Amino acid sequence: MDIQFLGTGAGQPSKARNVSSLALKLLDEINEVWLFDCGEGTQNRILETTIRPRKVRKIFITHLHGDHIFGLPGFLSSRAFQANEEQTDLEIYGPQGIKSFVLTSLRVSGSRLPYRIHFHEFDQDSLGKILETDKFTVYAEELDHTIFCVGYRVMQKDLEGTLDAEKLKAAGVPFGPLFGKIKNGQDVVLEDGTEIKAADYISAPRPGKIITILGDTRKTNASVRLAVNADVLVHESTYGKGDEKIARNHGHSTNMQAAQVAAEAGVKRLLLNHISARFLSKDISQLKKDAASIFDNVHVVKDLEEVEI
Ligand SMILES: [Zn+2]
Repeated sequence: MDIQFLGTGAGQPSKARNVSSLALKLLDEINEVWLFDCGEGTQNRILETTIRPRKVRKIFITHLHGDHIFGLPGFLSSRAFQANEEQTDLEIYGPQGIKSFVLTSLRVSGSRLPYRIHFHEFDQDSLGKILETDKFTVYAEELDHTIFCVGYRVMQKDLEGTLDAEKLKAAGVPFGPLFGKIKNGQDVVLEDGTEIKAADYISAPRPGKIITILGDTRKTNASVRLAVNADVLVHESTYGKGDEKIARNHGHSTNMQAAQVAAEAGVKRLLLNHISARFLSKDISQLKKDAASIFDNVHVVKDLEEVEI
C-alpha cells in the first residue's frame, strides 16, 4: 500500500506544487486506487505516474473549494478515453453539492461517460462510517474550516494469519487437501497417528493499517479522533510556526498544530501537505525542523512523491 502525492500546494498551483490531490494505491490489496481530492490538473499529474485511470474506483472529496475539486470534470472525461480498456464504474464520496457540481460540468460541456458514477453525498448529520467492504472501513468526521469540510480515516481490516508451509512439510504433512483443512483452522491426524494442531502452523492475524487523510482545517479534536493510532496522518500545513492567528482566521493549521495533532493521536508518521507557495526550499526544511520539535517522525511531502505504508 502506498500514497502518491499528486498535488501538495495550497490554494493555487505553483511551478513546484499543484493543487490538492493524492492517490492511495491499494493495488496489492484490492487492485484499486482511491483518489482523495482532485484539484485542477490532477489528470496531468497522473500522466507522470504509473496510475491507470480506470484503476481509480473511488474518489473521496474533503470539501467543495475549487482547489480540491476543479480537476474532477477533466479527470472523469479523460477516464472515458481509455482505448481497449474495460470501462469500470466509479464511486464519488463527498459533501452535499458534489453531485450537482459534477453533473452540471458534464452536462454543460456535453460530456457523456461510458461508465457509471455512483454518488455518496453527506452532510453534518450523515457522517460516521461512510463505507465498509470486506477489506476496508472508511469513516468521515467534520473538521473546522471556512466551509463544511471532512477528514477521512481509512481502516484496513485485520489480515488473516498465513500458513507456515515449510513447518508443515517438516512435520511430515503431505502437500494436498490437508493443507487446506489446516489453513481453515481444522486440527488433523496424520496416517501415522500424529496430531497436527492448526493453531501451531498459522501465524497470528496482523492488524490492518490505518491511514488518516484530512482536508483543510483549523486545529480541532476531530482531527485527533480521526488519527488515533494511525500508521500515517496526512495533515495540512498551510502556515508555519508563529502564524497561528492568521491560520485560525483563514481556517487552516500551522506545522506546529499538525505536529500537536500527531502527538496527541499517537500516530506513527506525520506527512505535511497543502504547503503555501510562499515557502521556499529553505523554509521547507525549517517547517520540518520546527514540527519535529513536537513530533519527531514528520516529513513535508512533494508532488509525485510516493510513500510506502
Ligand atoms: Zn485547500
